Amino acid sequence: MRLIDLHTHSTASDGSFSPEEVVKLSKKKGLSAIALTDHDTVAGNKEAITTGEKLGIEVISGIEVSAYFEKGTLHILGYFVDYEDKNFLKRLCVLQEARAERNPKIIKKLQGLGIHIDYEEVVAASGGGQIGRPHIAQVLIKKGIVNSLEEAFEKYLKKGRPAYVEKERITPEQCLEMLIEANALPVLAHPYTLHLDEQGLRRFVKRLKDCGLMGIEVYYPDHSPPQIKNYLELARDFDLAITGGSDFHGKNKKGVELGTGYGDLRIPYSLLEKLKKIHYRGKPWRVEIH
Ligand SMILES: [Zn+2]
Ligand SMILES: [Zn+2]
Repeated sequence: MRLIDLHTHSTASDGSFSPEEVVKLSKKKGLSAIALTDHDTVAGNKEAITTGEKLGIEVISGIEVSAYFEKGTLHILGYFVDYEDKNFLKRLCVLQEARAERNPKIIKKLQGLGIHIDYEEVVAASGGGQIGRPHIAQVLIKKGIVNSLEEAFEKYLKKGRPAYVEKERITPEQCLEMLIEANALPVLAHPYTLHLDEQGLRRFVKRLKDCGLMGIEVYYPDHSPPQIKNYLELARDFDLAITGGSDFHGKNKKGVELGTGYGDLRIPYSLLEKLKKIHYRGKPWRVEIH
């Protein structure tokens, strides 16, 4: 069976491998296709696609955009995104500025807790890409303040912890609208992070579907068999495409391997074929948002 991975991160956001390295690794792992889905940026797509062409690996352009959701984490994947669309790039710039403003605030909070850390150290840890909390965690590890990435998030960086800073985020509707404008096919990522019960999730998926959602990420390392069953039912009931991916972050997410997740993930190529069919039909999912 030909296997794929439709959810991967590179150094263009918070992954530890460059886009080229992610594609090379996918070749080594025997995958037929991958999508690069960095957080709020398409900067790695060109490099990944060029590498894919050289190595004979199909690379689908992609992105993972964060949107505001009170109860949990809402991420929407955009496949086949036009990564050169000027308007889209401009909108991403605004999102990145909000992200950039967040990091100094986190560092200030850490300093307020008596931890000696400065912004330049975090920039150095990022290796020149987008800066995120994993890079702050890396500096904390280096300084011996924590022993692991997990400990850094548990003690300081995650929601509810003393150095957490809320992100400025767009609404789910704005997120779908900007993806659709850039010709991307929007897919709800890892629905379990929304922390909704079955009925709540059903209502939320309906709300997104009414604004153009076209797919749901069913296969994901942290989804339990009952969750997978529930998401498959949602896909059927709302006529959504099914996708899957590892959410590979390289060394920044330990234990999660490209393609296989915790070891048993298998995403068949047939899912990508279906996605392509929907996408090549044009923009049937496009709805006007007022
Ligand atoms: Zn995500
Ligand atoms: Zn992700």
